[in-house]
Amino acid sequence: MAPDRPMSPCPCGRADYSACCGRYHGGLFAPDAESLMRSRYSAFVLGLPDYLLATWHASTRPSTIDLDSGVRWLGLDIKKAAGDGNQATVEFVARSRHGGGPAHRQHELSRFVHEDGRWFYLDGDVR
Ligand SMILES: [Zn+2]
Repeated sequence: MAPDRPMSPCPCGRADYSACCGRYHGGLFAPDAESLMRSRYSAFVLGLPDYLLATWHASTRPSTIDLDSGVRWLGLDIKKAAGDGNQATVEFVARSRHGGGPAHRQHELSRFVHEDGRWFYLDGDVR
């Protein structure tokens, strides 16, 4: 279940949560790879491991995800989204901070596949 947080900004930075990633956390399928990428980032921020597993392609999905509660997510920048109706890539930078440490910048090119009417995260290359 998605947390009920009406009229709060979406963690991905694009819109109000309920009009953005909240819809996908609530069960709607993300219509494109960028929206799925954003909703997965928001799921990390909000602590929704079930959503991360459900949107992970079966061929690469881990059996469990341990979300590190010591991480604070600082923001997401989508650099580039490309692809067609069957596969796509999304290049992004996600910024986080662990405890009182310095901000960490994760630059990744993620791959997504469209299967059975919905998008799945496949894997990613750290840049
Ligand atoms: Zn969002």
